[in-house]
Amino acid sequence: MNIEIVRVLCGLIQENAYIVAVPGRDDCVVVDPGDEYPKLKRALGERRVGAILLTHGHFDHIMAAGPLAAAYGAPVYVSAADMEMLNDAAINGYTGLMGGGTCWPRIGAAPYAGGALSVCGLDFTILSTPGHSRGSVCLYLPDAAALFSGDTLFCAGYGRLDLHGGNLADMLSSLKALFALPADTAVYPGHGGNTTIGEERVRYRL
Ligand SMILES: [Zn+2]
Repeated sequence: MNIEIVRVLCGLIQENAYIVAVPGRDDCVVVDPGDEYPKLKRALGERRVGAILLTHGHFDHIMAAGPLAAAYGAPVYVSAADMEMLNDAAINGYTGLMGGGTCWPRIGAAPYAGGALSVCGLDFTILSTPGHSRGSVCLYLPDAAALFSGDTLFCAGYGRLDLHGGNLADMLSSLKALFALPADTAVYPGHGGNTTIGEERVRYRL
């Protein structure tokens, strides 16, 4: 299935926000809205946001979620395990990396229920991939052979393990599970450029 994916590069940490849509529809999903709401709003144009899907709870990927949800009346989804991070600057990395303890508009979110979510004509499979955080997930669109990997899998790398909930053993088993996906699966990470499962799995011996 053909889908539209627009990458919006946001913020000081240069995280990727993604606008994902079925061609011909006026609604879309935002994966990891980032922390630069005005730029994301411009990229959305006339599109209506039907849902906001988070891969994990780190501040750089979530700070636009509050205003975005309020503007469109859209639900925000995150894993149950990362729910605690959304409104806690000490564990979502804001205090440690930005040197302050300030707050942002509170984010109200619902946990992913089960392993699937269908919204805006898109059928996501929610893959639990702990390691970078306890509740990291990857959002897989099997019909489109696309994977939004958050900070779990990057082009030529994987996410930090030294932050709240990070765990090497979990990361390795998560990467191993991702590498079982079809080789031609396009990977859209939380930072950096795109890659594929086939290109990444040859770098590891898992
Ligand atoms: Zn992260």
